[in-house]
Amino acid sequence: MSRLVVLGGAESGIGAAVLAKVKRFDVFLSDNGKIRQPYADRLREWDIPFEEGGHTMERILEADEVVKSPGIPPHAPVIRALEEKKVHIISEIEFASRYDKAKKICITGSNGKTTTTSLIYHLLKEAGLDVGLGGNIGDSYAYQVATVKHDYYVLEISSFQLDNCYDFRPDIAIITNITPDHLDRYDNNLDNYVRAKFRITRNLRPQDCFIFDSDDKITVEHLSRIVLQAKMLPFSQERKVEQGAYLDGERIVVRYEESESEIYLKELALGGRHNIYNSMAAALAAKASGIDNVTIRKALSTFEPIEHRLEPVMSIRDVLYINDSKATNVDAAWYALECQTKPVVWIVGGTDKGNDYTPLLELAGKKVKAIVCLGVDNRKIHEAFESIVGKDNMTDTLSAKEAVKAAAGFASPGDVVLLSPCCASFDLFTCYEDRGEKFKEAVRNL
Ligand code: ADP
Repeated sequence: MSRLVVLGGAESGIGAAVLAKVKRFDVFLSDNGKIRQPYADRLREWDIPFEEGGHTMERILEADEVVKSPGIPPHAPVIRALEEKKVHIISEIEFASRYDKAKKICITGSNGKTTTTSLIYHLLKEAGLDVGLGGNIGDSYAYQVATVKHDYYVLEISSFQLDNCYDFRPDIAIITNITPDHLDRYDNNLDNYVRAKFRITRNLRPQDCFIFDSDDKITVEHLSRIVLQAKMLPFSQERKVEQGAYLDGERIVVRYEESESEIYLKELALGGRHNIYNSMAAALAAKASGIDNVTIRKALSTFEPIEHRLEPVMSIRDVLYINDSKATNVDAAWYALECQTKPVVWIVGGTDKGNDYTPLLELAGKKVKAIVCLGVDNRKIHEAFESIVGKDNMTDTLSAKEAVKAAAGFASPGDVVLLSPCCASFDLFTCYEDRGEKFKEAVRNL
């Protein structure tokens, strides 16, 4: 019996362990920290041996192969030790794909992954296909491969998961865009980060598709340095494309093989320039999966906004409160500000990931009337924006409740209060969902 060790006991690791059990591996799961109750229960239910609060190195080093959860950094001592012993380390996605023959549409990128993935899932479902949604969303891919069978999977894949992929091959690969984020995990080297994202394309065959943003300079620059065999399907808001999707005034034109179809912007369920990109990518993926134009258009118009992504919460005294807690980097916040048409009271701040706020200055000058900082250390935000919105129009807060109260104080009827923090949430919240929930609760209690 082959010995498989799974490192990390959250969604991805549990899925890999269950699949290993189903495939009759001698499996052992080890987590350096505490395993959350529902996951520990799942392991017991499947009779999978595990440990938490530390690694028993002797047992781990005996593995024939190791599945590493994406949260474990490549420099962790346990990974170093395994590498020294030349034990093969793979990701849950790589492991699961060995046992899965379904067609896979896989999405990576810096921003827009969840939105694009969910859009494609919705499109395929509306077309009546048997499809699973996984990766970073919902049940892990491995768990689904172990317990259900689908004809299609739509998988959101982070670069951390791609790091340990080798033979994994999507049928349709998508890179939504590439902007500096998580550079700390890539030795602060943009090239390393770009190459990690591009691992999604490494096994594509001529009959597979690669969908990408041809307005994105980093993506296009990298493409000029590599050779891909796949069918190239760019999407652009700046120029026409022969194959792919582009913006022509108020409509999107989709060209795939011999067919050309159109989608009017006013029909799209999701607003904002970034969502035009996401909708284009989704339409192309659907088209390449053989879905007809009418279904694509209809499904793009019936999609429901996802929580914490430009999610309208409610209007109070004609001030609309919007929860965009998932905007954890500068680029995401740029798009959130860009699509606002009313004066914005902007709630921003949190754990800074080495942010450079320069790209936001012009937009902030045009759209933002006041800034409420929501973070422990707001110095960089003050330095960047004080000269733009004025010192008196900025304030510091330490909780969602305080922030919403301060924002309501700045707002007049007709304004928008936008939580689009540009930063991670870990200084004051457990995660971005927690920040978004607390924001919504504070708005409801106003
Ligand atoms: P991800 O899963 O890659 O983090 P999401 O779809 O969850 O992306 O969106 C995260 C944030 O990024 C949202 O707050 C949204 O405003 C912004 N965003 C979504 N799509 C794009 C895009 N194509 N380009 C830039 N920003 C985007």
